[in-house]
Amino acid sequence: MNRQITLAARPVGLPKESDFALVEEPIQKPGPGQVLVRTHWLSLDPYMRGRMSEARSYAKPTQVGEVMTGQAVGEVVDSGDGRFAAGELVVGQLGWQEYAVARGGALRKIDATLAPAQVYLHALGTTGLTAYFGLFDVGRPKPGDTVVVSGAAGAVGQIVGQLARIAGCRTVGLAGGPEKVADLRELYGYDVGIDYKADDVNAALKEACPRGVDIYFDNVGGALSETIFRRLAIGGRVAVCGQISQYNLTEPELAPRSLGLLIVVRARLEGFLVSDYAHRFEEGLTRLGGLLADGRLRYREDVTEGLEQAPRAFIGMLQGENRGKTLVKL
Ligand code: NDP
Repeated sequence: MNRQITLAARPVGLPKESDFALVEEPIQKPGPGQVLVRTHWLSLDPYMRGRMSEARSYAKPTQVGEVMTGQAVGEVVDSGDGRFAAGELVVGQLGWQEYAVARGGALRKIDATLAPAQVYLHALGTTGLTAYFGLFDVGRPKPGDTVVVSGAAGAVGQIVGQLARIAGCRTVGLAGGPEKVADLRELYGYDVGIDYKADDVNAALKEACPRGVDIYFDNVGGALSETIFRRLAIGGRVAVCGQISQYNLTEPELAPRSLGLLIVVRARLEGFLVSDYAHRFEEGLTRLGGLLADGRLRYREDVTEGLEQAPRAFIGMLQGENRGKTLVKL
C-alpha cells in the first residue's frame, strides 16, 4: 500500500494537524512514459502554505482530498520510460507520499556520489537556486556591498549569506533565537548575526551597517522588513524572495510605511520566482556544485523521520522550529 498525506481542510491561520489526513491507496503501476518512484526524502517548504489556500498565487491550489504537493528524492522502482531504470535516484514533484507515479519528463536524475541524495532538495536544488538567482540576478552584488538577509538561518538564507560573502560582500543575517544566531556566525560565516526576537534591530543594524544596506534579501516581510528598508543605502536593492511573516495571517499587515524612503535612496524593490530561471538552472547548479565540492558551501539539515510526522514538522517550520533545511526522511 502507498501511504499519503492529503489536505483534509483549508487552514485558517496557522495550519493544524487536523488540516492533514494520513490515507492509504494501492501502489499504482506506471503507464507508458511514466515512472514509479519510492520516496526517500521529502522537502518541506513555506510555499506549501500558499498551496493549501485558494488565494491568488502563481500556481494552482491543492484541492481538499489531494496529496500535499512537494519535491522529493526517491528511487525508481518500475519504469514505463526507457530513460529510467529501477534503482536510479531521481528528484521531482512527487508529493507527500511513499510511492509516486510521475511523468519521466518531469524527473531529474541525481548523482548521489557527488552529494548525499537529500542535498538535491536544498543546496543542489530549488533552495540553492533561489539563493543564487535572487542574490546575483535581483540583488546584483558588488564586492564591498553590505548584504542583509532575513530568515538568514533557514534553508535559503544560509546559502544567500555564504554566496554573498564569497562574492566579497559584508554579510548581516537576522534570525530568531541565540542558537540560530550562533549558526549564522559559526556555520555560515555571516559577519554579524542579529536576533530579531531579542535585539533592538534598528540599533543593531545601525551599528552593523554604518554605510547603509546595499542589498536586502527579504525572506520574511512585515515589520522586520520595514525596519530594514529604513536603512537602505543610495541605490539599494531589495530582492523580495518570501514573506513568511504574512503567510498565516488571516488579514495581511498594512503595507510598509517607509516606501517614500525608497524615493530618497532611489532603491529597487523586486519580487522574483525561482522557476522563472529554469532555463538557467544548469548554470546555478554548476556553480553551487563547485562550491560544495570545494568545501566552501556549508549547510545544516533539520531532519524528521516518518511520513506521518510531516504535518507536525511543517507546522513547526512555519513557526521557526527548524534549524536549517526542513526535511522528512521516509
Ligand atoms: P526556512 O528554512 O527559512 O524556514 C522558515 C523560517 O521562517 C523559520 O525557520 C523562521 O525562522 C522564519 N519565520 C517564520 N515566521 C517568521 C516571522 N513572523 N518573522 C520572521 N521570520 C519568520 O524556509 P525557506 O528557506 O525554505 O524559505 C525562506 C523564504 O523563501 C520563505 O518566505 C519562502 O516562501 C521563500 N521562498 C521563495 C522562493 C521564490 O522563488 N521566490 C523559493 C523558495 C523559498 P526564525 O526562527 O529565524 O524566525
